[in-house]
Order: sequence, then C-alpha cells, then structure tokens
Amino acid sequence: MNTQTPSTEYREFETDIVIAGGGLSGLSAALTAAESGVKAILLEKMSFLGGAGLFPEGSLGIGTRYQKEKGITTTTDQVFARVMEFHHWRCNASVIRTLLNESGQTIDWLTDHGVRIEGIRTMFPPEKSLQVWHIFEGRGARLVKILSGHIKDMGVPVLTGTPVTELLIDDRGMVTGIGAVDAEGQAVKISARAVIIATGGFASNKEMLKKYVPDVSMPGMAKLMYRGPAVDGRTGDGINLALSAHAALAGMGTLAGNSPYLDDEPAIRQFSGPDYMKQMRCALSQPFLWVNKQGDRFYNESFGSVFSDVYNAMTSNGGLMWSIFDDAMRKSMVEEGPLTPFNAIVVPGQKMTALDKGISKGIESGFAFKADTIEELADKIQVKPEKLRETIEKINTCADKGYDPEFSRKPEHLVRFNTGTGPYYALKGLRAFFLTLGGVQVNPQMQALGDTGEVIPGLYVTGQDMGGLYDSTYDLLAEGSASSFALSSGRIAVRSIIESFPAPTIDGD
Ligand SMILES: Cc1cc2nc3c(=O)[nH]c(=O)nc-3n(C[C@H](O)[C@H](O)[C@H](O)COP(=O)(O)OP(=O)(O)OC[C@H]3O[C@@H](n4cnc5c(N)ncnc54)[C@H](O)[C@@H]3O)c2cc1C
Repeated sequence: MNTQTPSTEYREFETDIVIAGGGLSGLSAALTAAESGVKAILLEKMSFLGGAGLFPEGSLGIGTRYQKEKGITTTTDQVFARVMEFHHWRCNASVIRTLLNESGQTIDWLTDHGVRIEGIRTMFPPEKSLQVWHIFEGRGARLVKILSGHIKDMGVPVLTGTPVTELLIDDRGMVTGIGAVDAEGQAVKISARAVIIATGGFASNKEMLKKYVPDVSMPGMAKLMYRGPAVDGRTGDGINLALSAHAALAGMGTLAGNSPYLDDEPAIRQFSGPDYMKQMRCALSQPFLWVNKQGDRFYNESFGSVFSDVYNAMTSNGGLMWSIFDDAMRKSMVEEGPLTPFNAIVVPGQKMTALDKGISKGIESGFAFKADTIEELADKIQVKPEKLRETIEKINTCADKGYDPEFSRKPEHLVRFNTGTGPYYALKGLRAFFLTLGGVQVNPQMQALGDTGEVIPGLYVTGQDMGGLYDSTYDLLAEGSASSFALSSGRIAVRSIIESFPAPTIDGD
C-alpha cells in the first residue's frame, strides 16, 4: 500500500517506485510494477495520459508470436547488425542490444493485454524491410487506453495535472524521491526506493531546442508535428531533473525528423486529422518532381517515404521544398492511389478521393498552388520560370530513357510531364520532426549515469529521456524503434529496480 501522511504544507507519500510521466514508457513501467506486486505511483503533468504515445502507428518487435504466425524469421542479430552499421557504432550498443532483445517479448506482453496487431508494414521496398514494424489496431490512442485501463484496474495511484518539479537527493547523492505540484496547486512529496524519469524528451521546449539542436536554428526551422504546451508536455523536465543529480547527457543534438510536411498548422492534422489533409501530405511526398528553392532537384523522390532521409536532404537544401505535378498525375492519385506510401496512413492502392478538396483548401491557405502554365506556377512559388521548365524537361528526358542519372529514381517512378497544357500544381513542404532523441546516458539496467560514468543510485531513465541510442538521425530501418524502446525500457527499469531491492530478511536475523 502506498501511504499518505497528512501535512499542512504538502501531501506526503511513501512508495517503492515513483514514475514521472504517463506516456508510453511511464505506463509500461507502472503496469509492470503493479504486475510484479511492487508499489508504484505515476505522476503525469498533463490532465490526460499518453503523451506522444497517443500517436504511434506501431512498434518494432523481433521474434514475436505474430511474426512466427506469419512466417517472418527476422533475428535480433540481423536487426542489431543493421542498426550498428547505420549508426557506425556511435551509439550505446549495449543498451540498444538490451532493448532489441526485449522488443519481441514487449509486443507479446501487449497482445496478452488486449492490444491487437493489424499487420507488419514497412516504408521501404519489401526486399529492404526488416519486417519488424507491428501496426497497432486503433494506433497509439487505443494502446494508451488499454495500458491505462489495466493500471487503473490494478489500483496504481495516478496523479494527473501533477508535474514533477524536483528530485529529492540525499547527502550521498542517492535519489530518494520527488517533489511535485498537484492539480490543486498543492505541493506533493513522495519518498521512494527508486525514481523513474519518463517525461518524453524536449520536443516542445523551444529554448532547449535552440540550445542543443543546431538544425533548428537554420532557415526554415523544423516544425514540431505535435506541439504546443497546451497539448504537449514534452518540455525537457526529466532531463533537467536528471541534471540536478549530475547526470551525463548524450546525443542532445539529434532529432527524429519526419518530412516533408505541408506549410500548415497544426502539423499533426496531416498525420491524424481529416482525410483530405492526410492525402495532401501523401501527395506532397509522391515521386513526380521535387525541387528546392532554386528549382533544382535535390533527392531521389522514389524514397519519399523514408522520412528521416527526406528531413536530412531538406536540411541540406535550405529547409524548403516544392512538390510539382501535372493534372494527369493528380488524376492518377485520385483514381488509382499513391505510388509510394505515407507511413501506414495512406498506402498504394488507396484512392485519394479527398485530394481535390485538399488542393482547394491548400490554395485558400497558401500551401498549394495551381497555374495554367509552368512559367505561371514558377512565378507563384518564386522559382525562376526558365529553371523550372528546364528541370521538368530534364525529368521528361529521364522518363523517355527510363533512367535517372542524377539521383537514380526508380524507372517505374519516372513519369513524363505534360509540358503543353496545364493545370500544374505545387505543394509547399517544410521540415518537421516528431521527437528529440538526446537525453540522459543510461546503462542496460536503465540506471542513469553521472558525469564520470558512475551509476546515480535510485535514478532510472526511460523512453525519449534516454540519450545516445541514435547517432545523427532516427534509424528508420529499424521501424518503430522509438515506441518500442520506450515500452521496453519501462519494463526493464522496473525489473532492475526490483532486483536491486535487498532480499527480505528472516525475523530475528
Ligand atoms: C505524431 C507521432 C507519431 C509517432 N509514431 C510512431 C511510430 O509509428 N512508431 C514509433 O516507434 N514511435 C512513434 N512515435 C514516437 C513515440 O510516440 C514515442 O517514442 C513515445 O511516446 C515515447 O515515450 P515516452 O514515455 O518517452 O514519452 P511520451 O509518450 O511522450 O510521454 C511522456 C509523458 O511525460 C509527461 N511529462 C512531461 N514532463 C513531466 C513532468 N515534469 N512530470 C510529470 N509528467 C511529465 C508528458 O506530459 C507525457 O505525457 C510517434 C510520435 C509522434 C509525436
């Protein structure tokens, strides 16, 4: 039982584990604690649970029951090798291995609790895919509902509207609990045997982004897909709390880019809003023609769904792009569907019947443009008319030859533009990101590490508050790693804490 001592100054509790943050890693930690018979209290700053965890389409898992049923034989060795190659070993290899090892059991654990897997999807061509991205029925929102429901049923105290504001640290540097402020404004003090920081990183903290992430200071600053303090609690609190205990940070400059996004706010509407916005976002990344501010191509459009690479290419090109198509291309999207997927949200074969509505809305709002001639379109998007025509003629030559000598676009995506009669369309794309990837250095037990690599006793860190798991870029080959690492790190942290408890003594000893 968690105990409360009445106090005039603050509400005081005592428990085994206190968890700061009620998103994916916090919820997974709370449920694991309850199922292990350990007392825990969960504190969430916002009035609702879930954090960014309300949005994932799916998570990475290796060796799951679902994969076995489908005959998928991907191994942890294979995924680990690909991940380490991707990051050139500039990352915390032992923590990554631990999280990959756990990933399959975590998915099975979720399905045991009622989460249903809709399928395994990929943003890559099938031959490249590791087939690890388990898509959740009802996406993150249903996952959060299921986890929160179990936590409630098991009687875990959950205090929403209660930001954790300080760590209690004793003279020996041991973290012994937290201070917080509850929804009524009253101070709360919780003493605990261990604290788990699970506050989701700092994607919504402009000052921290400016301080730590060089990308965001360049022209065309990246937009946050899910933003605003009213809805997004990810303001770096956990990282700053850990710093108060002298924690070491790693990888603070790395973002999970997710581009391109239409120049329209809030960007999350393109991800989970009306169909016409999702289809417009899908149209933006189709392999017809992408140009930068100068009217030059800058990327292999066949890989428009590899959103972390697109983010990087846009970063190297001034942060802005234009996606250009003609009327026949528009018609093919409406009547046949996209050539490449937008995540698992709009996929090939799915007719984009709301696209025309999206284009009209985009023209009204200024993120879509339509013109009768190529030159008039170029004027509207402030690209030199002769340059846009030259780029279009170049892509037509590639289409005639079935070969793109510039960026190796796939031959099946080399579609000829009609250069005679319009209309022509341009959609404006900006960079976007959805997560920060830097945070506190941890060991494979999810214990926070201090400046000199020593363990900070009593302090554990999970999810997006962990740092050093990615080098310069989100690793999209290991699809769904962010949510997978969050869910698994919550489970592992609790198990480590329980293992650290002294063995019970026999009376009289
Ligand atoms: C649009 C979108 C789509 C995504 N899609 C995918 C996907 O398909 N696959 C994938 O793997 N990942 C995806 N992710 C990433 C995934 O959501 C995150 O990796 C995951 O939610 C991280 O879990 P977390 O516990 O670290 O943080 P969160 O889930 O964000 O939870 C952090 C919680 O801590 C709370 N908090 C903050 N400060 C305090 C404080 N001081 N006191 C108490 N509480 C506090 C926050 O309010 C929040 O509720 C997506 C994210 C977004 C935004």
